[in-house]
Amino acid sequence: MFRAKGPKMTEECIFCQIVSGNIPCAKLFEDDQILAFLDINPWSEGHTLVIPKLHCCCLEECPASLLGEIAQQIPALAKAILNVTQADGYNVLNNTGRSAGQLIDHVHFHIIPRKPGDGIIRHAPQGQYPPGRIDEIADEICGLLR
Ligand code: AMP
Ligand code: ZN
Repeated sequence: MFRAKGPKMTEECIFCQIVSGNIPCAKLFEDDQILAFLDINPWSEGHTLVIPKLHCCCLEECPASLLGEIAQQIPALAKAILNVTQADGYNVLNNTGRSAGQLIDHVHFHIIPRKPGDGIIRHAPQGQYPPGRIDEIADEICGLLR
């Protein structure tokens, strides 16, 4: 299970500092629970981050109601972002853990506007399971969900 090694204290967390207004951001939306702002080093114009105001390092530590609030806002945000950037698609991305590219240990979702042929995210070739392995993996995972 992923456990963040980064700051737990809000004073040490860049995104908590943005929430409290100590670090400025290009704010797009906020309510009492969540905040959306432009990523300072975008993969494309309009690249947005959506965060809970509560400090949680990762999805597993974030209350489900907060994740629901974020999920509810993403389509409206994406629609406005695509309108302004003239993009025709977008990726919603969450990086959890260092191996997955998470740099800031305050849970966040990227909304990344996409245009044809922009080459921003390259998909690695997909593999194949050896015979029987797909069922083994599924059974093991299901066993932990029961
Ligand atoms: P991740 O690699 O998923 O943890 O993404 C962290 C993101 O936060 C990166 O895309 C950074 O460019 C972005 N970021 C870091 N500091 C700031 C900041 N002060 N304002 C806006 N975005 C930031
Ligand atoms: Zn934080």
